[in-house]
Amino acid sequence: MTRTRPQENLNPSDIAREQFNIAADLLELDQSMRAVLSVPKRQLLVSIPVKMDDGSIKVFEGFRVQYNIARGPGKGGIRYHPDVSLDEVRALAAWMTWKCATVGIPYGGAKGGVRVDPHKLSQGELERLTRRYAVEISPIIGPHVDIPAPDVYTNEQTMAWIMDTISMITGGSQLGIVTGKPISLGGSLGRAEATARGCQFTIREACKLLGINLSGARVAVQGFGNAGSIAARLLHEDGAKIIAVSDTRGGIFNPKGFDPVAALKHKEKKGSVIGFKNTEMITNSDLLTLNCDILVPAALENQINLDNAHQIKARIVAEAANGPVTPGADRVLFENGVFDIPDILANAGGVTVSYFEWVQDQYGFFWSDDEVNKYLEKIMVKAFHEVNDKATQYKTHLRTGAYCLAVSRVADATRIRGIFP
Ligand code: NAD
Repeated sequence: MTRTRPQENLNPSDIAREQFNIAADLLELDQSMRAVLSVPKRQLLVSIPVKMDDGSIKVFEGFRVQYNIARGPGKGGIRYHPDVSLDEVRALAAWMTWKCATVGIPYGGAKGGVRVDPHKLSQGELERLTRRYAVEISPIIGPHVDIPAPDVYTNEQTMAWIMDTISMITGGSQLGIVTGKPISLGGSLGRAEATARGCQFTIREACKLLGINLSGARVAVQGFGNAGSIAARLLHEDGAKIIAVSDTRGGIFNPKGFDPVAALKHKEKKGSVIGFKNTEMITNSDLLTLNCDILVPAALENQINLDNAHQIKARIVAEAANGPVTPGADRVLFENGVFDIPDILANAGGVTVSYFEWVQDQYGFFWSDDEVNKYLEKIMVKAFHEVNDKATQYKTHLRTGAYCLAVSRVADATRIRGIFP
C-alpha cells in the first residue's frame, strides 16, 4: 500500500513567518509591532558582471538582506549556490535575527547570496565575482552596519577577498568588515569548531535536564561536514557512543559504536564514510529513525517532517543544521516527548564566535582557544536555560520558547528606539 505524504508547505520564507507568528500570538504582540517585525528592513538586489577567463562577460545576480538591525549591526553569511533566491535569503536573514537575539549577542540579522555554481568557475573568476559583489553591496555593509561571514560554498578565502576589496576602497585595513577570516587576517581561534562546540554545550545541558548520562549515550549524526563531523568528535570525547554517521552517499552504522576521527580519515581518503571498517551501510532516512539517545541533523533543511517525525526514537534532537525540522514535525516531536534543541539555539555557537572575532578585531587583542571556549560555554549554557524557561512558561517546545525569547528581545529594542521619524 502506498502512503500519501501529508501536505506540508516547505517554503523557507513561509516556515520562518509561521515560526514568528506562533511566538507573536503567545506574546500577544500588538498589530503594529507584528507589522514591523514581519518584514525585512532592507533588501538589495545587485547585478555582478564578471570578466570570464575566455574573454566573455557573464552577469550574476546577488542579494543582501538585512531583516532587522534594531539590536545591533546585521550579521549573517554569504551563500554561493545556483538555487539561491531572494526568498531564501530573506528567510535566512530572519533566522539570523532570531538566532542572535536568542543567545543575546548584540547583532541584528542579515544574509547574502549570489546565484552561481562556484564549482563551475576558475579561482580567478571566483575572485573577480567576489570582489565585484563586495563593491556592489558596500553601500550597506560595514563593521557597525552589517558584517558578512561565510556560508554554503564560501570560505575564509572569500572573506579575505571581501576584506581586501573594502580596504582598498577605504584606504585602510578593515578587519571588522567580515568574520570567518583566516587567523593571519584577524580571524579567531576556535571559529572552525564553534558551531559543533556550541551544539555540544546545549546537548550536555539537555542531558542533565533529562537525566541522561552523556557518557555511553548512543548518538547518530546526519551530515559529516564541518558541523557534523566535529560534533561527533566532541561528543565521542565526552564518552558518547557514535553509532551512525552519514554524508550525501549514505550512512554507516554499528550499534556498538566507532571512532568518528577514524571515520573522518576514511572519508577524506575515499570521498565518503561508506565502507568504513566494522560498519554496515544504511540510508540517510534509516539513520534518522535509528534507535538512539541523541540525533544530530547536520546536513540539510526539512529532513524531519510529517513523513517521518512519528518514527524518531531519539530522546534528544540537536539541530546543528539550519531548518532540519519542519513546523509540522515540531508538533509531533513535542507530543511524543522528543526533546528538540532548535537550530537558532543549537547551532548559534558559530555566530557567537563570529561575534568574538569582531570584538577581538575592534580591540586588536586576541584571545586563546581556552578563552574563546570558556566565553562560548557561558553564553550557550545561559541561552539554553533561558530558552527552556520560556518553553516551560508557555507550555510549549524549545523552538517556540526560543522564538518567544528572541522576538520579545527584538520587539523591546524596536519599541524603546521608537519608529523614525
Ligand atoms: P558542510 O558542507 O561542511 O557539510 C555538510 C555535510 O552534509 C557533508 O558531509 C555532506 O556530505 C552532507 N550532506 C549533504 N547532503 C546530504 C544529504 N542529502 N544527506 C546526508 N548528508 C548530506 O556544511 P556545514 O558547514 O557542516 O553545514 C551543515 C549544516 O549546518 C547546514 O545546514 C548549515 O547551514 C548549518 N550550520 C553550519 C554552521 C557552520 O559554522 N559550519 C553554522 C550554523 C549552521
